[in-house]
Amino acid sequence: MPQVVVNGQNCKACYYCKELCPENVFAISQEINGGGYFPAVVSNGDACNSCMICYFICPDFAIGVEK
Ligand code: SF4
Ligand code: SF4
Repeated sequence: MPQVVVNGQNCKACYYCKELCPENVFAISQEINGGGYFPAVVSNGDACNSCMICYFICPDFAIGVEK
């Protein structure tokens, strides 16, 4: 099963990942990160189909997908 991880400290909260993930894997954290943003978090990782869209769309290289 694919493993998706977000490095919350690198996230700048553009939410492209959340908007573009076809499987609704991402949510928004309630906790602020070191940069003052509410980062994306993985909320439904089991649904990931490893399409890699989030990996390539993230402008801050904050997402890892391990197949
Ligand atoms: S695409 Fe990257 S920077 Fe944007 S919300 Fe998702 S993890 Fe954060
Ligand atoms: S790899 Fe695809 S399905 Fe998995 S979290 Fe990223 S965008 Fe969603």
